[in-house]
Amino acid sequence: MTQASDLFSQAKKFIPGGVNSPVRSFSGVGGTPVYFDRAQDAYVYDSENKRYIDYVGSWGPMILGHAHPQVIDAVKLSAEKGLSFGAPTEIETRMAEKVCQLLPAVEMVRMVSSGTEATMSAIRLARGFTGRDKIVKFEGCYHGHSDALLVKAGSGALTFGVPSSPGVPASVAADTITLTYNDSDGVRALFAELGEKIACIIVEPVAGNMNCIPPAAGFLETLREVCDRHGSVLIFDEVMTGFRVDLHGAQGLYKVKPDLTTLGKIIGGGMPVGAFGGSRKIMEHLAPLGPVYQAGTLSGNPVAMAAGLKTLELIGAPGFHDKLTRQTAQLLTGLQQRADQAGIAFTTNQVGGMFGLFFSEEKTISRFAQVMQCNQDRFKRFFHGMLEQGVYLAPSAFEAGFVSAAHSDADIQATLDAASAVFNTL
Ligand code: PMP
Repeated sequence: MTQASDLFSQAKKFIPGGVNSPVRSFSGVGGTPVYFDRAQDAYVYDSENKRYIDYVGSWGPMILGHAHPQVIDAVKLSAEKGLSFGAPTEIETRMAEKVCQLLPAVEMVRMVSSGTEATMSAIRLARGFTGRDKIVKFEGCYHGHSDALLVKAGSGALTFGVPSSPGVPASVAADTITLTYNDSDGVRALFAELGEKIACIIVEPVAGNMNCIPPAAGFLETLREVCDRHGSVLIFDEVMTGFRVDLHGAQGLYKVKPDLTTLGKIIGGGMPVGAFGGSRKIMEHLAPLGPVYQAGTLSGNPVAMAAGLKTLELIGAPGFHDKLTRQTAQLLTGLQQRADQAGIAFTTNQVGGMFGLFFSEEKTISRFAQVMQCNQDRFKRFFHGMLEQGVYLAPSAFEAGFVSAAHSDADIQATLDAASAVFNTL
């Protein structure tokens, strides 16, 4: 058994920051990242065989819990037949059919290999379809790391975006307009001025990358309305919410139909998969039918399709999401009680199997600015206390948490017992 600190030192020699995705480095909470060796059901086991109750679930995909036997069997069966062909396979059609059945706004879908690819391609399609360049996103939402989406707000309400990373050309960022999430008036004001130039709005219908922020009443409807009025494309980025907040996605839950939907995480059941889909009218603009180019060597990979399709089949069981929602509510109600007992200012958000924890005096958190004002020091100490107690939370105050179908009442109770002890030390 090798200690995480040794593994991390070795990794840092060969991998920038020791990790292949920045949040994994524990830069948000300090300390050495935990190295996982294996996972089963609601648990992850580290390199020293310590068990943790897992509320990250690989950042969302593991809605069934880890290593679900039927998913693993599907992967094994597929792998034995060969890993990749670069030619059409039947399972791609079965996957596409399933996605179209489940998501009200998807008539056709194209598979890719990550959420980043899905959103990048959807933006290109929206621009190609409308013949316009400007896109609108919201501060605090994350849509992967393609240039056009790695942009933050410039100063002043209606100024254009500035790159949020070196390497993103200012000229690319200038076409991305960043607004405030849940601010319908801001959206209307922008469209009144520039509506005819805007190709699309891309939005997380429940924000999950500034902790967890549900859409305010009327917000998604306003987006639909302005896009309809100005001929812009509405993109719901359901990489996180798809099949998570409801079997039919956020679009099913809130009954607002986007023109395009981007997917990832659960659709791959833990394998590298993304997808984008929408109305036939728009999707038919994609190559080879139409002029908007998009492609992928490993897109629709059969092993990944096997994991994803089996996952989608299993979560379609009657009552699956109701139970997931109840378990999540039980966790959050219990955490709130324990925090109150310990006299710690704390509040939570929940949509289905997705949740947010906030160390804040405010009872309702609905804006990015409020998330930024939460007590980060307390979060860090809570995170490390829980880790010590064998509970793995997202190592950042700005990420949503996830419950899986494998989290039992006993797991929730054990989590609450740990939280009682940790809240009392804060
Ligand atoms: N969109 C959303 C809403 C996401 O949460 C993420 C990843 N957390 C992405 C896009 C990017 O997906 P990926 O990491 O698979 O590229």
